[in-house]
Amino acid sequence: MDDYYIAIDNLRYVYNRGEPGEKVALDGINAGVARGEFIAVIGANGSGKSTLARHLNALLLPVAGCVMINGLDTRRPENLPAIRREVAMIFQNPDNQIVAATVEEDVAFGPENLGLPPELIAGRVDAALKAAGLERLRTVPPHFLSGGQKQRLAIACALAMQPGCLVCDEPTAMLDPAGREEILNTLLRLNRGEKITLILITQFMEEAALAAKVWVLDKGRLVFLGAPAELFARPELLTACGLEPPAPAELARRLRAAGWPLSPEILTLDDLVAQLRRILGRNPFLNQNMI
Ligand code: ADP
Repeated sequence: MDDYYIAIDNLRYVYNRGEPGEKVALDGINAGVARGEFIAVIGANGSGKSTLARHLNALLLPVAGCVMINGLDTRRPENLPAIRREVAMIFQNPDNQIVAATVEEDVAFGPENLGLPPELIAGRVDAALKAAGLERLRTVPPHFLSGGQKQRLAIACALAMQPGCLVCDEPTAMLDPAGREEILNTLLRLNRGEKITLILITQFMEEAALAAKVWVLDKGRLVFLGAPAELFARPELLTACGLEPPAPAELARRLRAAGWPLSPEILTLDDLVAQLRRILGRNPFLNQNMI
């Protein structure tokens, strides 16, 4: 476990400990994240996803076990500033994270609080706006932005602090499909291009399908860690956890069961269309423009 960038060792968390309404939210969680990895965390409502996310930048501290971030134990108060700089959190509602009168002032807020010299702040703001695709909106008041743009602003604010890891707790839950795609593309670009470690909590299976690894939580326990294709080939496990596979993966699985030569790696609509084209394209009676 020592080699992991993020190491979660036997983590247990209990709300209202020793009081009425005591609730074990996480129980015996063991997992590791390598630097630069993209992990999706899924699970039914109340399975412990947000509680786990809040342990990754020490907003919550383990009742038992421990969480190590880049070698720093979250239980030690002297590690807090370094951990909070390393792991940035993005929440569901971007409105709660906006503090300033313009986009660029909002992004500058964090670095200003670090007391950095103005020329360094300007460089960080430029880089963060560019990475989040907001350069052209830098002088706009945040309340004029769309939901997706506001969430990209929250991401830019996080990036201005130069974190190694983004933990995103259902960042697309309040957005329309266009906004969701905008955010997902931004996060993917940051993970693939800038090598930022990405931990994405999501209720959308199509988003989880894009990750290198998926963690499935069920009633506070981690019941699956592995590749999305491996998970989505196990509908019984998903059903037991109150989840459903992404529609393209489920359609492919059923077609495969009916004898269609489709590969088990199909997770997205693009994958499915490509494979159907390959199979059906051989049929001379089929109009190529149909799919
Ligand atoms: P998820 O993010 O998967 O919906 P949560 O981590 O929010 O799950 O919650 C895990 C469990 O802990 C749930 O049963 C939830 O009701 C409970 N819980 C969450 N927050 C609190 C709290 N502040 N006080 C008491 N119980 C809580």
